[in-house]
Amino acid sequence: MGSIRVENLSKSYGNVDALKDVSFELDEGEFAVLLGVSGAGKSTLLRCLNGLASPTEGAIYIDDERITGPRDDVAMVFQQHNLITQLSAYENALTGALGRTSSLRSVMRWHNRQEKLEAVRALDTVGLLDDASKKVRQMSGGQQQRVGIARALVQNPATMLADEPVASLDPASAETVMAYLRQAAMERNITSIVSLHQVNIAREFGERFIGLRDGELIFDGGIDDLTIDV
Ligand code: ADP
Ligand code: ADP
Repeated sequence: MGSIRVENLSKSYGNVDALKDVSFELDEGEFAVLLGVSGAGKSTLLRCLNGLASPTEGAIYIDDERITGPRDDVAMVFQQHNLITQLSAYENALTGALGRTSSLRSVMRWHNRQEKLEAVRALDTVGLLDDASKKVRQMSGGQQQRVGIARALVQNPATMLADEPVASLDPASAETVMAYLRQAAMERNITSIVSLHQVNIAREFGERFIGLRDGELIFDGGIDDLTIDV
């Protein structure tokens, strides 16, 4: 589950061509890093993949099903984590059980035992079990991002998309967060695409690399082939 096929994808905003004829495929469970400088089209690609933006041309398939909008089996991790900071790590993780529609109000809903167990398991995966009851606003940036990953895991996704998840962190925290993200994806066989602009972090954690420049796919391969400078 979670395989991705992008076919001749183009996306324009007025006369800005943010993506130009991009095609690639990811097998179930693959962990890909999406590389490119600011403005290369990374966010646009991820927004098309999670159904928040619609392609101008081309199509995206997940498990051979064409994407027509947001799906609960596709989880998203954001640069700005989008957590509810006055609530605890555990309460935030639980909101993942609601899929993509979490809000303060929905947190108040009754959660079943299975959902609670999933939230605990996800916090354990990102190394935050001991901090489960801590308020998110009292956590460091790296811990907050790990809560964001836990929330995504509770959604029980087959596919996980992360848009510059470590861009606002110092190098040490960035490495820690990437290590947890990658570990979680491996353990649960989640097909993942993580956009990054730091090539050193990409090299350390990526197994597959997709490079964009000015909306064009300029690289798709493994680390041994990663010679070009995106
Ligand atoms: P990043 O470079 O980190 O992807 P941006 O600053 O380019 O972020 O974009 C942030 C938000 O602003 C996104 O939602 C994007 O779609 C939107 N955006 C980016 N460029 C433009 C633009 N020229 N006009 C309108 N919205 C834009
Ligand atoms: P990246 O994530 O790699 O920084 P983006 O996908 O945010 O790149 O942006 C790619 C190009 O599309 C940029 O030129 C950006 O200004 C433009 N763009 C992105 N979102 C919008 C938008 N909502 N409206 C207009 N232009 C946009």
